Amino acid sequence: MPIVRVALDVPLSTLFDYSVAESVPVATGQRVVVPFGRRDMVGVVMGSVASTDIPPERIKPVKQVLRDSTPLSAEILGLLRFCSDYYRYPIGQTVLPALPARLRSGNPVAIKPVLSYRLSAGGAALDLGNFPKRKVVQRRILEKLAEQPCNLARIKALSATAGAQLKDLMAEGWVESFSLATPLTPNPSPACGRGEQIAQHAFDNAHTLTSEQQFAVDAVSHTSGYACFLLHGITGSGKTEVYVHLMHHVLQPCPEHGRRGGGQVLLLVPEINLTPQLENYFRSRFPDVNLVSLHSGLSEGERLHNWQQAQLGAAHIVLGTRLSVFAEMPGLALIIVDEEHDSSFKQQDGLRYSARDLAIIRASRRGVPIVLGSATPSLESYHNAQSGRYRMLKLTGRALAEARLPAVRCININQAVMHHGISENLLREIGQRIARREQSLMFINRRGYAPVLMCTACGWTSGCKHCAGKMVLHLKDQRLRCHHCGYQVRVPAACPGCGNADLYPVGSGTQRVESVLQDRFPEARILRVDRDSTRNRRAWQAMREQIHANEVDILVGTQMLAKGHDFPALTLVGVLNPDSALYSSDFRAPEKLFAQLVQVAGRAGRADKPGEVIIQTAFPDHPLFRALQTHDFEGWAASQLAERQMAGFPPFVYQAMLRAEGKQEKEVYRYLNDARAAGIALRQEVEILGVVPAAMPRRANHIRAQLLVQAKSRRVLQLFLREWQPFLDQYSTAKLRCSLDVDPLEF
Ligand code: ADP
Ligand code: ZN
Ligand code: ZN
Repeated sequence: MPIVRVALDVPLSTLFDYSVAESVPVATGQRVVVPFGRRDMVGVVMGSVASTDIPPERIKPVKQVLRDSTPLSAEILGLLRFCSDYYRYPIGQTVLPALPARLRSGNPVAIKPVLSYRLSAGGAALDLGNFPKRKVVQRRILEKLAEQPCNLARIKALSATAGAQLKDLMAEGWVESFSLATPLTPNPSPACGRGEQIAQHAFDNAHTLTSEQQFAVDAVSHTSGYACFLLHGITGSGKTEVYVHLMHHVLQPCPEHGRRGGGQVLLLVPEINLTPQLENYFRSRFPDVNLVSLHSGLSEGERLHNWQQAQLGAAHIVLGTRLSVFAEMPGLALIIVDEEHDSSFKQQDGLRYSARDLAIIRASRRGVPIVLGSATPSLESYHNAQSGRYRMLKLTGRALAEARLPAVRCININQAVMHHGISENLLREIGQRIARREQSLMFINRRGYAPVLMCTACGWTSGCKHCAGKMVLHLKDQRLRCHHCGYQVRVPAACPGCGNADLYPVGSGTQRVESVLQDRFPEARILRVDRDSTRNRRAWQAMREQIHANEVDILVGTQMLAKGHDFPALTLVGVLNPDSALYSSDFRAPEKLFAQLVQVAGRAGRADKPGEVIIQTAFPDHPLFRALQTHDFEGWAASQLAERQMAGFPPFVYQAMLRAEGKQEKEVYRYLNDARAAGIALRQEVEILGVVPAAMPRRANHIRAQLLVQAKSRRVLQLFLREWQPFLDQYSTAKLRCSLDVDPLEF
């Protein structure tokens, strides 16, 4: 009897063997229902074998083969296997969570055919010149379909009533639907994905490319096979325009196959908040192309539908956040990773994978080009581009001739008149913007009113009783709230230590900045944008509209505001308190700060109005701010890389972090020390550092500590981790939460 090896969503790093009847062929990649312990589970067949070590009487049969979905391809299974292996994470817990939730349940799912519409023979014979004049919408639909078949979205775009009118036309027998759900052949040649699609993709070709843009587009589109490109373009240099042209190239029918053409493009973006905006943008540029998005904000039904469209090859552009790197795309011909430096591509819990890195692996295994775009590339990618592993493509000028880079200037907070964290000079600049009806943005990376409440008499501070951190004062709802564990209490009327009624908020967060500005500019319309004020996504959408309608004078916000948004009336950006990142224990903190400040500065002066950035700092001569002032990413990156090389940090070494947390300090340290000893005993070419407390040594009553391992090469590190893993599994106990983080970004 044939045996299949099944991946199940359980925390064990093995596959499970089940038997199948000869008469029921089961394909690799198929979903099956199998008995596991006392229940039934859905699993994915990873392969089959002729025999196994398990005694035959102990092998249970597969209960059901779920044939309602197309089996996962060898390509995706291979990527998932790689991922599980590289990040040392159980295979079943890698494979199953990569699927839409509905495919993880045993309930049958229907494959919704993706329909397109065309004229029937009767419809084509109609004389549109004599078509009833009052049926304007029907006529427009018929005219459109006479040009080319269209999907529903395209027809609906013609008019609000087009959906209903289409039904009438179908009832008349003039229009017919047909299914696009013909599966594509796997692995078409990269230059020519194929699939039954509309003959010619309309493409809103709005701009003549600059010569740098053209060079980038040519370099990528003339590539056959795998190559990794780093598109390093300053903000506003037109990276998005390059993406649009590259997509156009991939979507175009290839001359050899006539009207068969159109590969698929995967566009990975860091932020779920940005997807609706980008989705609309790319839809407007490719009105005839079926574009789907994949992110956690979708309902289960939408997610399944979009995923299936990608799998069927019916969706030609897939725009998604990190999980979409695992989407099936049989015609995949190009991958683009926008804002490749963004740390949200790295999952910070469970399977700690980097979607950017996996995207590169996927592209290279498949033999298609990948483009990493950023204004501030990660030092890893930048180093790879300099050493020739990636190809560097540069956009050095802003695409719109009249748009200039913002002027950046520092204000020394030790020499300025300060009002609760905002300098008099900055306040004056804001006042001028209000008078000119321009917008200002105050950037501060801390929400709440003040990061800590303090007693002036005895020195008591608002520490969290469950964590090593302080509780943040949220004045609006009169609470002290811990941003690490969520614990909250009412603001005490008097000091819990000495009874003194005079408690004093130290430092500022968004709420305090908002209130200081409101006191100074009572007439101004101030909008605070942080996680507290944008709990639901509709709130954020409404805020964006307000900003665009210029109904806001001053924006106060956290990094949420730094990313990707285009606010044409914004001419002043104030950076209120960036200094803590300069001397952080995390060696990546300056890199992150630089990227963040470039991004937030890029919000100023996008249109015809020049922008200005004012940074309040105690270190106005710090090289980071100097580089920012001269827009010198190259110089900055070179100095950072030199420092990293001297200190022996990535990208010059490869790291893995073992973390543990638990209620008992002793157990946490015993585990890490045992793991360390076992690692040292393996005597490999890796450096195993000491066991140290985590940056937040106690969180939600759990003691947290960590152990760093590093090696000169990825291969050496991987070999070590493979041998080390059994010890880690052996030493961990139910009382501990342990995790291994390969290529960690957070320290
Ligand atoms: P980035 O993504 O690099 O920040 P965008 O692609 O958003 O830049 O481009 C910035 C602005 O320049 C946009 O308004 C875009 O429409 C415009 N733009 C891009 N390329 C060109 C071009 N070749 N000619 C004119 N305008 C362009
Ligand atoms: Zn006190
Ligand atoms: Zn806490």
